[in-house]
Amino acid sequence: MSANPYPLGLQLAGLRVVVVGGGAVATRRVPALLDAHANVQLVAPEITPALRAHVDAGRLHWVPRRFAPDDLDGAWLVQVAIDDPVAAGAISAAAAARRIFCVRADDRTAATAWTPAVTRYGPVTVAVHGGGDPRRAVSVRDAVRTLLRSTPRLLESQHAQPGSSPDVSAGGGDRPGRVALVGAGPGDPELITLRGWRLLSEADVVVADRLVPGLLLDELRAGVELVDASKIPYGPSRTQEEINRVLVERASAGAFVVRLKGGDPYVFGRGGEELLACAAAGVPVTVVPGVTSSIAAPAAAGIPVTHRSVAHEFTVVSGHVAPDSPDSLVRWEALANLRGTLVILMGLKNLRPITSTLLAHGRASTTPAAVVQEATTGAQRVVRSTLGEVADAVTAAGLRPPAVVVLGDVVTTLDPTTLL
Ligand code: SAH
Repeated sequence: MSANPYPLGLQLAGLRVVVVGGGAVATRRVPALLDAHANVQLVAPEITPALRAHVDAGRLHWVPRRFAPDDLDGAWLVQVAIDDPVAAGAISAAAAARRIFCVRADDRTAATAWTPAVTRYGPVTVAVHGGGDPRRAVSVRDAVRTLLRSTPRLLESQHAQPGSSPDVSAGGGDRPGRVALVGAGPGDPELITLRGWRLLSEADVVVADRLVPGLLLDELRAGVELVDASKIPYGPSRTQEEINRVLVERASAGAFVVRLKGGDPYVFGRGGEELLACAAAGVPVTVVPGVTSSIAAPAAAGIPVTHRSVAHEFTVVSGHVAPDSPDSLVRWEALANLRGTLVILMGLKNLRPITSTLLAHGRASTTPAAVVQEATTGAQRVVRSTLGEVADAVTAAGLRPPAVVVLGDVVTTLDPTTLL
């Protein structure tokens, strides 16, 4: 029986690592080496398109021929990613002669180093060796990953960590506060990003929008201060000032504040204003993008915002200001003359003047239209119509905000009966 491996985390930044082979194994192994900033030398007569993309981007150096022993001169580690045992044995011998650790994809018993099954989550890397059984390593790794994703507070740092990346430490204590602007996605709680979910579970204070999926808030840990931004009095403009004040005040007191916003924070979300307010007060801010309803709501109704040979553009526009208002920043007459997909957010109230303006400037009344209310939630409703009739159809169906209006040929491109 072979001895147990000795686990290590290698700091490979700038160090030469040779990968021999250009197929599927090398394609899978190279990204982690690049992530560790290794100086990767890839030795193989032919390589996969994914590896070629790394070469073209200048991320690694490709030696386009078969292995020669002096390829290992100056290397710290070699990964053998070929399955010819004779050739692999020659590489092992060359590595041993130079005292370089050698990972063997073809024969782990012949290797002097094993790569573990790995999962990464936030600042934590979990590496699992399965006692010689790679499948066991993968199932243990998967179990740990599930545990981390369902209990992200396990990742909280227990001590202040000067110099750690700004989105890894937990709030509270004597650490300086900070704010994360997190996109919560369009409505389905599963459509938040992994990073958004992790930061949410680390928050001391959560300032949430009306459109944020309620179930996400249901899972916050006990003791979190939840500020419901939609309940802040004073009316629209003062409300934003008040939200900015809460963010700055709590963060200045040392809290980790998550500002949770529907969809993406920067799509009609006033995320920029909140970032500026925090910056002006010297509060560090992280922004975590979200799945925006402008793309997800059409998708949830079976509508791709682009489709080959149908639409090569999509335009997202706010309809909250009527087209004839002096406050309007949208050139509706120009939009009427675009061929592609038009996605209108906050457009129900002004749908009639919007559609008549588009018609008046030449967009065909037969242009397919769809309105998706409360997309990706259990309450989702979809009304399909045409530009000429959609305003009446919305009234007849009694649709209410939040809803996304989609105009363009993509609306009828996919057959909804073929969708699950
Ligand atoms: N930042 C958000 C948009 C905020 S503006 C995002 O990226 O999605 C608010 C508008 O978004 C609503 O009036 C509506 O037009 C749209 N919206 C947000 N969530 C929606 C949902 N689940 N279904 C339909 N429309 C939605």
